[in-house]
Amino acid sequence: MHHYIYIVGGVMSGVGKGTVSAALGRVLMSKGYTVTAIKIDPYINVDAGTMNPVEHGEVFVTMDGDETDQDIGNYERFLNTNILSVNYMTTGRVYQSVIQRERNLEYGGKTVQVVPHVPDEVNARIERAAEQTGAEFVLVEVGGTVGEYENILFLEAARLMRMRYPDRVRNVLVSYMPVPQAVGEMKTKPTQQAVRTMMAAGLSPDFVVARSSMQIDRPRMEKLALFSNVDKDHVIGSPDIDSIYKVPLVFESQKFGDKVLHSFGLHPRAKGGLRTWRAMVRGIETALREIRIGVIGKYFSTGDFTLSDAYLSVIEAIKHASWAQGYRPKLEWLNSEEYEKSPSKLKELSQLNGVVIPGGFGARGIEGKIRAIQYCREQKIPYLGLCYGMQCAVIEFARHVVGLKKAHTTEIDEATPHPVVHLLPGQEEKVKDKSYGGTLRLGAYHCALRAGTAARRAYGKAVVEERHRHRYEFNNVYRDQLVKAGLVVSGVNPEQDLVEIVELTGHPFFVGVQFHPEFQSRPLSPHPLFMAFVKAAATPSRRIRQSRKKSS
Ligand code: GLN
Repeated sequence: MHHYIYIVGGVMSGVGKGTVSAALGRVLMSKGYTVTAIKIDPYINVDAGTMNPVEHGEVFVTMDGDETDQDIGNYERFLNTNILSVNYMTTGRVYQSVIQRERNLEYGGKTVQVVPHVPDEVNARIERAAEQTGAEFVLVEVGGTVGEYENILFLEAARLMRMRYPDRVRNVLVSYMPVPQAVGEMKTKPTQQAVRTMMAAGLSPDFVVARSSMQIDRPRMEKLALFSNVDKDHVIGSPDIDSIYKVPLVFESQKFGDKVLHSFGLHPRAKGGLRTWRAMVRGIETALREIRIGVIGKYFSTGDFTLSDAYLSVIEAIKHASWAQGYRPKLEWLNSEEYEKSPSKLKELSQLNGVVIPGGFGARGIEGKIRAIQYCREQKIPYLGLCYGMQCAVIEFARHVVGLKKAHTTEIDEATPHPVVHLLPGQEEKVKDKSYGGTLRLGAYHCALRAGTAARRAYGKAVVEERHRHRYEFNNVYRDQLVKAGLVVSGVNPEQDLVEIVELTGHPFFVGVQFHPEFQSRPLSPHPLFMAFVKAAATPSRRIRQSRKKSS
């Protein structure tokens, strides 16, 4: 028997519906129930793969190769499980299948209409995900905010689900309560209005999660309950907090999970289920030794604001591995274009314990990345390159160690005399046909690790599976030449003989991976490569070196 919990947003975007969904899921799990979470994105894009990460945040890749929203990553991290493609949909994807079905005459000659056929398709997808995961609780996060045009069909689908299964569907409104400085008190009116708007869409909340800078107090809880038609115990406070991983504990302290269970006529099956989670959170609080990790990228700025959402999983992976070893990571956002304008700025890297270059696309900032990698290689600064960060490391090595001065990736320079990174097999036609969406090498592939290498030591096993998202790869024509010059190929995809990991010896840590290990890092199980990287970054010699530099 599946139970469905719809999570919708009120007042404004960015209030953390994804975190609320993931945290509520974790709490329900701790009560002895199985849980999965679905993300609905209201935009027309069929997936998140074709969107600029500055605008939309990270593209999170699932094991089965879907390019999804970053909230799916949050679900994986909180629920400690792999979430697959079936748990993700967009308006574009839903319409695409309705139209395809119409073309296949599957509607039996009927007029295909926005309602009911589109909401029916949404609900069929939700039920399919419930079936495939077998979860007792299916959390359905509806992107966007109530009252906007874009997500109205998904709210309509939720209404139909409630009609179909009145005892097995509950709605949670996650809404924002501003505390205007000039007024000095928390205001509930915007949320009252969000509730009205929700009702106009045919839904009413069973719970209201009050997101705010502070915990909502009793009088306001009562007021909100009165205007929202919910029990006053069903208003749950969710104040801003220094770590999102504390949110399950905030919910537990207000018995949110128990209340949800009771609303379905259910009871907790297990006690103390948050024990390991609590221990992990305690680990965050006691991780006091600071390490400084530089993340070199380009998807940071939007107007006057610096956002780091484009690198969300990378950030989380660094945090997980640091906390697990008692370190508090201080992340520095470094724009690679700066190193192109003023190479002397590279010196700032020596003030860091380690450097990560995450995935990326295109020419902007690439020369700066290559310079930064050269600096890390020569100055023996621990370096972890992810995808583009690995490809750039190969280019850097080819140019400066092997002497192939014009070495490049054909992504940037099609005419390079030394294409050390080139298109994957089968990609040529796709690029020619402009068939870009969903056509990269995506999802999990095997990687066989070579004995005696840093990668093999980190993982502690011979074969691993990692998630990919790329169109270009290491060119095997140059393999012997680069290996002879000292590049160690420590991981290879056995099926296609693709180079997946390169590293250097005689360096505290210099590893580049063609895949995205960050997608598999979880707070309860940090990723082995990030663990090894943080360990190297935090070694005493690295710290001595740093303090010497600081005092000079
Ligand atoms: N742009 C590179 C490629 O397509 C790297 C992609 C990435 O970093 N995710 O191969």
